[in-house]
Amino acid sequence: MAELGWGAATHEGQIRAQNEDSHLVHPSLFVVADGMGGHQAGEVASAMTIAELARRQPDSGLMHLDDLVEAINVANEKIFTAAVHTPAHAGMGTTVSAVAVVDDPHAGEVFGIANVGDSRVYVLRHRKLRQITIDHSYVQELVAEGAITRDEARTHPRRNIVTRALGIESYTRVDSWTMPIIRGDRFVICSDGLSDEITEGEITEILEAFPDSEVAAQELVNAANEAGGRDNITAVVIDVFEGEEPPDPTEEIDVVTLWEDDDEPTGETQIITDPLPDDDTDDTGDADDAQPHETSAAETVPPDVDQTMVPTRRIGVWGGLLAFGAITAIVVGAVLFAAWARTGYFVAFNDNDEVKVYKGRDGGVLWFDPTVDADTQFTRENLTADSAEQVEQRPTFQTKDSASAFVTSQLEAKPGTILTPPASSEEVDPEPEHTPDTTRSESTTTSPSSTIAPTTTVAATTTTSASTTSTED
Ligand code: MN
Repeated sequence: MAELGWGAATHEGQIRAQNEDSHLVHPSLFVVADGMGGHQAGEVASAMTIAELARRQPDSGLMHLDDLVEAINVANEKIFTAAVHTPAHAGMGTTVSAVAVVDDPHAGEVFGIANVGDSRVYVLRHRKLRQITIDHSYVQELVAEGAITRDEARTHPRRNIVTRALGIESYTRVDSWTMPIIRGDRFVICSDGLSDEITEGEITEILEAFPDSEVAAQELVNAANEAGGRDNITAVVIDVFEGEEPPDPTEEIDVVTLWEDDDEPTGETQIITDPLPDDDTDDTGDADDAQPHETSAAETVPPDVDQTMVPTRRIGVWGGLLAFGAITAIVVGAVLFAAWARTGYFVAFNDNDEVKVYKGRDGGVLWFDPTVDADTQFTRENLTADSAEQVEQRPTFQTKDSASAFVTSQLEAKPGTILTPPASSEEVDPEPEHTPDTTRSESTTTSPSSTIAPTTTVAATTTTSASTTSTED
């Protein structure tokens, strides 16, 4: 039977007028929730979460891990509904990180851990502090990608952007694990007001310096306040006095593997496309000795909720990101569509029965009408009947080169025809530089209109192409 000790402390910090963090300490359930949203809405969201979890505690026995996850899902639905129906609470949300003693069908009494957002659970074992939750935050994704270090994440300007939270959507994914209850383990559950202000090294020093749970929690909060206290600060410390024998230190698996188990690489995408509940609602990881699982029961105690509050910074940035993403998607889509509409070439007669190479989709797409990309020396009059028939088919090509090749190699003039430079070529290029060099046809891509003709009469390079490529005078 596990025997635990615990302590908790919270503070609004040095800048914010209110404390929107909420926490719960109960003989078998410990929770920290960091609310967000203006006009005290964040405080409402975090308090609702704590209340729902406390309410779910059975009168006797232990919860299963599934019960804990279910309670968090219900809290999410309630917050989401309240946010939608109460203008003052629009956009409110909260993180939640919970450690509970749960009943596992296979392992018996174990710790169940559940997390949504960037509030953290650490465990100190063998004098080594390890984070056993994964932050659902923008900077965590940067850390996972190797773009920044964990230390840089603490001071990153966008460190407050969470990629998952309760209350933002009707459904949310809850990460959950179980792990054995090991004698001597010391847990810390905290809001980002602690982890952003002091390093993990400093947290470790404080935990080692203050054996009493309550004192340790208060010292952690004090240290964060002394470091700046730019956010609300909450720390819950749990000590395992009785439990399983600690494993050999050398057998420990570094908890960093947990990050790699996160199967959702991008936060923005998560929120926008988070699927409806499916069979994989619980992320599982096997860092250390944590295992996915479930359990049941204890006694209900009124939530120890601290009333206090925070600005809408996180949701604000968040909404901005979503809007930015949506606009970006529209712009990118429009550009891609325009590019597609302008892609390709085809050969056809114009209204004057002259053969032209057109750029764009035959018939046009919306306002993207095809444009004449190159003139030819052929007309309906000077083409053989077979060739005129081919042009009537309006053949299409992927590239300008293939369209040009069709004109020069497939179309034949009637015997005895004298091909003359097309009139339009003269108009566009007042001083056409005629050359028999067929390779010059490549340079016609810089010309607004060019001429394609049998290889011996290729013309219409632009006058700029020669001068701009010259490097010597
Ligand atoms: Mn916070």
